[in-house]
Amino acid sequence: MVEALAWHIDEEVDCPLSDTPVNRLKAHPASLTAALSPEPVPEQTKERVLPAPVKTAAFSALVQEASLAARTATTLEQLEAAIRGYDGLEVKRTATNLVFADGHKNAHVMVIGEAPGADEDRQGKPFVGVSGQLLDKMFACISLSRTSDAPESSIYISNILNWRPPGNRTPTEQEIALALPFIERHIALIKPKYIVVAGATAAKSILNMNQPISRLRGRFYGWNPVTPGITEGIDPFECKVIPTYHPSFLLRTPAQKRQAWHDLLTLEAAIRGT
Ligand code: URA
Repeated sequence: MVEALAWHIDEEVDCPLSDTPVNRLKAHPASLTAALSPEPVPEQTKERVLPAPVKTAAFSALVQEASLAARTATTLEQLEAAIRGYDGLEVKRTATNLVFADGHKNAHVMVIGEAPGADEDRQGKPFVGVSGQLLDKMFACISLSRTSDAPESSIYISNILNWRPPGNRTPTEQEIALALPFIERHIALIKPKYIVVAGATAAKSILNMNQPISRLRGRFYGWNPVTPGITEGIDPFECKVIPTYHPSFLLRTPAQKRQAWHDLLTLEAAIRGT
C-alpha cells in the first residue's frame, strides 16, 4: 500500500480523479500485457516525439512565424522584443507582464522552468514566488546564485513560456510548440555549459522526450534543438541538459527533495570536474 502511494507520488499523480477506484486492467486485459513489457527509453531525436499539436495550416504558419522571429534575434534584447511582438500566443493577452529572464547573461548554468505564476507575472521576473525561493536555496547549496557576478558561480533563469497561463494551468502542447523556438534561441544566445530543466513540462519540451520526469531526472543528455536553423549565426557550443523535479512539486512532496539533492550533486560534480 505504502509502495503504491509512493509510486503515485513519484509519477506526480498527487490528486484523485474520482472517489471510486476503477480497475482499468480488468476492463482492458491487453493493457496488462503492455504494462508488463519493459518500456525502452527512446533515443533522443530531432523529430518531435511529444504528442504533435493539432496541425492546421494556420497553426503551422504561427510556428513558422515564431521560428523566424526567434532566429532573427542576435541579442537578448532583440529576442525579448521579438517575444513581446509575437501575437501567436493567446496567453500574452491575459498576462500582465512579459517574464523574460533573470541572472547572469554569461552564467555557465541556465535553469529553465515551465511558465510564470502570479508573483512572476506581477514582477516580470522568473521564479520570485515561493517556488523561486526554494529554487534559490537549492542552488545556494551548491554555491550557485542568480545574483553572483562571476559566470562560474551564477545561474541564468528563464521559462518555456514567457507569459503566465491564466490560473497557472500547465501550458498546452500548442503553446509549447509556439514558445519552443524562442526558448531554444534563448539557449543559443546564452550558450550555457549546463541546462537544468525544472519539472516535467520543461524537461519533456527541451529534451523532446515523452518520459515521466521521475525517469528522466538525474542524468545528463545532449541538447538537440527541435527548431530547424535555430542556432543559425551562433558559434558552436557544447551544452548538457539535466532534468530535475520542479520546486513547486518539491514543496508539495518534500519526500522527493532527497532525489533533487542528488541531481544537484550530480550537476556540481560535473561543474567541478570531479
Ligand atoms: N514556476 C515556473 O515554472 N516558473 C516560474 O517562473 C515560476 C514558477
